[in-house]
Amino acid sequence: MCRHLAYVGEPVRLADLLLTPPHSLLAQSWSPRDMRGGGTVNADGYGIGWYTGEPEPVRVRRPAAMWTDAALPGLAGSVITGGVLAAVRSATIGMPVVETACAPFVGGRWLFSHNGLVRGWPSAVAALASRLPVTDLLLMDAPTDSALLWLLVRARLSAGVAPEKAVASVVTEVAEAAPGSRLNLLLTDGSTVVGTAWTHALWVRSLPGAVVVASEPYDEDPGWHEVPDGHLVTATPSNVDIMRLGDP
Ligand code: GLN
Repeated sequence: MCRHLAYVGEPVRLADLLLTPPHSLLAQSWSPRDMRGGGTVNADGYGIGWYTGEPEPVRVRRPAAMWTDAALPGLAGSVITGGVLAAVRSATIGMPVVETACAPFVGGRWLFSHNGLVRGWPSAVAALASRLPVTDLLLMDAPTDSALLWLLVRARLSAGVAPEKAVASVVTEVAEAAPGSRLNLLLTDGSTVVGTAWTHALWVRSLPGAVVVASEPYDEDPGWHEVPDGHLVTATPSNVDIMRLGDP
């Protein structure tokens, strides 16, 4: 399963968040500690989205292992930002290895990522998908479960649904339609992070003036707390709220 991380708070250098910690997202791309449901490395691409002071984030994605991108250390060493969502991908069997399948997905001020898989893809969720505008489906980033989950969340956000309710309702409806799915989602607008633990690991750590939510702790600090399975976390630099969604 892929690995992902979201950070909001005091400005940080991308390299200090994603590359240099002892068990950074970069290290998790070739040596993850907690892969579930298949896969050993996260080498099928990566993506980083960050906020620059404008409402809409900047994003880069590449369809190759993070460690192969010679331009990344220079880029990550020169960007300082107060909001990040980054992911490394291990493509689910049968899904394409292309740039457009890599998280984060973007829409307006939002960045989104999915760690996991939808069981019985695509037929199990065809009924849910059929309620989306056909133009959304035609313009979908890639023919993957993660890209569809983003369309489902985005449609609710566009309809004015609060982010935690949009994420919670998509997880519970997809889990009902496709039992056994792994649905660890991350959503941020650069100020708040919403994440779900649904049959996969998720950790949260409060820092001075910041908060980070990640698939795996990036260091050995005792301040990391695991989000219990079947729960949703809403995190800001000043508050972490954990709410039960149901039994996966
Ligand atoms: N199923 C998604 C994909 O193929 C996510 C994969 C993962 O979490 N390993 O992109």
